[in-house]
Amino acid sequence: MDFFFCLPIIFGCPTKVKPEGNQEARICPRCHNAAMFAAKSRTWFELCFVPLIPMNSKHIWMCGICQVQVNVQPGWEPQIAHPGYQHPQLQSQYGPPQNAGYHPGYVQPPK
Ligand SMILES: [Zn+2]
Repeated sequence: MDFFFCLPIIFGCPTKVKPEGNQEARICPRCHNAAMFAAKSRTWFELCFVPLIPMNSKHIWMCGICQVQVNVQPGWEPQIAHPGYQHPQLQSQYGPPQNAGYHPGYVQPPK
């Protein structure tokens, strides 16, 4: 009776995520870290831990910190992280920022 259990066959359909495209850091909408990247999520039919047949795949955004996955959809993408980003037009117009004696009105607290 136990004959059928002598050879264990283990199968499943795990999902593997592979980074793709330009790995430009994006702002995660959930944890707000610049750790979101474009990736391809693919489900495999796996037999004895060997991926055999690719089932279906989809393009996603994935956060490396909180592991959130967002389907790529037209019209929305995570904000690109630009540390210290300055608009090139403003930069050339006003020159390098001068801290001494320069206090824009909108920074001052209301009196
Ligand atoms: Zn996150």
